[in-house]
Amino acid sequence: MTSVLIKDVALPWGEKADVSVIGNRIAEIGRRISGEHEHVVDGRGCLLIPGLVNTHTHAAMTGFRGIADDLPLQEWLEGHIWPAEKEKVNPEFVYWNTLLACVEMLRSGTTGFVDMYFHEDKVMQASEKTGIRVWAGEGILGVMEPVDRTLDRVKSLLDNATELARVIVTPHSVYGCSEEELVRAKEFAEERGLLLQIHAAENMTEVKEFMEKTGMRPVEYLHAIGVLDNRTMIAHGVWVTDQEIGLLKEAGASVSHNPESNAKLGSGVAPVVEYLREGVNVTLGTDGCASNNNLDMVQEMRTALFLQKALHKDPSCLKAEQVFKMATENAYRTLGLDAGIFEGALADLVLVSLKKPHMQPVHDALSNLVYSGSGSDVVMTMVNGRIAYDGERVLGVDEQEVLEKVKGFWE
Ligand SMILES: [Zn+2]
Repeated sequence: MTSVLIKDVALPWGEKADVSVIGNRIAEIGRRISGEHEHVVDGRGCLLIPGLVNTHTHAAMTGFRGIADDLPLQEWLEGHIWPAEKEKVNPEFVYWNTLLACVEMLRSGTTGFVDMYFHEDKVMQASEKTGIRVWAGEGILGVMEPVDRTLDRVKSLLDNATELARVIVTPHSVYGCSEEELVRAKEFAEERGLLLQIHAAENMTEVKEFMEKTGMRPVEYLHAIGVLDNRTMIAHGVWVTDQEIGLLKEAGASVSHNPESNAKLGSGVAPVVEYLREGVNVTLGTDGCASNNNLDMVQEMRTALFLQKALHKDPSCLKAEQVFKMATENAYRTLGLDAGIFEGALADLVLVSLKKPHMQPVHDALSNLVYSGSGSDVVMTMVNGRIAYDGERVLGVDEQEVLEKVKGFWE
């Protein structure tokens, strides 16, 4: 069994301690832990946090970073992203661009991500290669392919699932699938005990057009057709009524909040304060790199905070600890991970340097991380007890080769 001792590190609640990891779990937290460990990490001047989980992204879209900025959602999607995907996306493209995403995420403190895209077998391979957790969701788009054919691919993903690479059911959206297809996807998820994630209520146009077609709002509709329950996560949830917030709460569903993507596409700002007030479980995601344009969850936390404060004209409406929880605990709850910083916890851990000028002085390390820091302050990322990023490089992968391959798709 592997063992790692992180010495003399600051914990999020202010204490300093040594943290011993044996196998994939935290064995002990205390002062001056002794005993043989395979690796000893000097934690002085650093903050240890539980791993950040990106609950909504399309990892391979790193390949489309910067190709169509400054456009509204529908024009961006239909006029630029879908045509580019048609031309470029194949298993090779997904593999190398997802590897790039995994490298970026591990370097910025993300230990797991929920993905929705095509060729998810390649996404699972990229996760295994770099040692990051994934919940791989093969995009179900009834408008492009019969749902049962996509579900056949999901079955083969399930046959290849591992401790790190798991599977989730991801119908694209209420406009990308018919009612029948959505119900079929949900039944499949239930049969297999899988989570389901779907884009919903992302922008006003989506809601307006959907209401014209069905007379219902997207979340209301998902509830009416039986897709909403505590195994469901909606991505975005920007344009929801109080009644729909109530439905999400009643169902025990989660919301993946993607503040930067929503802001960049001009979609709006999700009612996070209202969600939390009503007790809806809110998690945090970046969405794909074509609408963000990075996968930095530390920056995402900062943006989430600033947008709510500006929107509500109230600096106390959302606090750093709450958003930190969204990026960690709330995601673990939805995904069923017992990670955290306690003895027995799954060892998904991130070491953040507090030594740089913008991180000094340290009155409150968590405040520095969320309000002053960025993912580039991460100096170690551990997933499942294994050091995946050591401050120099992501282990198990030739980063230079990844950069070359990614560039090659555009030459
Ligand atoms: Zn998305």
